[in-house]
Amino acid sequence: MSDQPVYSIVVPVYNEEPIIDELYRRMAAVMDGMGESWELVLVNDGSQDRSLELMMALHARDPRVHVVSFARNFGHQTAVTAGLDYAQGQAVVIIDADLQDPPELIPQMVEKWREGYQVVYAVRTERRGESRFKLFTARLFYRLIYRITDVDMPLDTGDFRLMDRVVVDSLNRMREHNRFIRGMTSWVGFTQTGVGYVREERYAGVTKYPLRKMIRFAMDAITGFSYFPLQIAIYFSLVLGIIAVLAIPVVVLLRVATGQEVFEGQATTLVVLLLVSSVQFLLFFLLGQYISRIYDEVRDRPLYIVAQAVGFERKPAPPGMGHAHHET
Ligand code: UDP
Ligand code: MG
Repeated sequence: MSDQPVYSIVVPVYNEEPIIDELYRRMAAVMDGMGESWELVLVNDGSQDRSLELMMALHARDPRVHVVSFARNFGHQTAVTAGLDYAQGQAVVIIDADLQDPPELIPQMVEKWREGYQVVYAVRTERRGESRFKLFTARLFYRLIYRITDVDMPLDTGDFRLMDRVVVDSLNRMREHNRFIRGMTSWVGFTQTGVGYVREERYAGVTKYPLRKMIRFAMDAITGFSYFPLQIAIYFSLVLGIIAVLAIPVVVLLRVATGQEVFEGQATTLVVLLLVSSVQFLLFFLLGQYISRIYDEVRDRPLYIVAQAVGFERKPAPPGMGHAHHET
């Protein structure tokens, strides 16, 4: 007989000390209300505050709380990945720790799952308490990704979603190092649907996504799902080439007609040179983005290092280390 829970709730946690107890309280209320077994998989992403201690206390109080603790901070998407590796439920929900995603939406997602949908993602119909800058960049980001990638990703959707076991198993076989989980979930396919919700303010604390991490995240999304940046060189090449070809007869004719040098100024040359090198360096940068990610794949380090995992005694070593766990 299996004691696998029906539901797993996966929560990445990075310095969320003031939130953990409240998260547990609200989550337990919702999940107990559904009357089926569940586990809460808390992934401590190298927190420097008392988050881990509070998580361990929860585990001691309620053995349905399971804790995976990283050896250091590996980042949000990696923490979610570990949670998916360890989760054992038939349906797995990914949710942020900060209660911006309301646990109260889960019963609605479950309803869709019961109807037969294998992925139920939460669509943000409204976002509260976030800076204009964040709203604007997020809007721009989702629309850009949407345009330049081949994968159909729903707009304004974060990682907050419910996934059936078959989807999670498929995702767990994708061991790419720079992960954009919402894209990966779309990529695997299956039947997907959305439910709308209002994204609330953070319950407490501040965002753990400074601009630097946001840019990295955006680059992971783009490089992971689009070749477009590798191909834009052809547009620059065409435009500059056409200008050059047109310029030749113009320069010659003017020279013949006027008997004088046409572009005498060194300033013009300098400006053109700077402009063209700027474009070249941009293309180098884009190449570098892909090359560094290829390097990550070639080295094939483990995606994360676990310092401690409690509550999972029944499960063999999770596939989180290094390679895909399927036979070859
Ligand atoms: N998080 C994480 N590792 C990190 C950064 C964030 O596990 O390096 C977690 C964080 O604790 C939260 C979730 O990822 O549960 C989303 O982070 P946050 O709420 O700060 O992002 P925002 O909602 O501001 O985009
Ligand atoms: Mg948040």
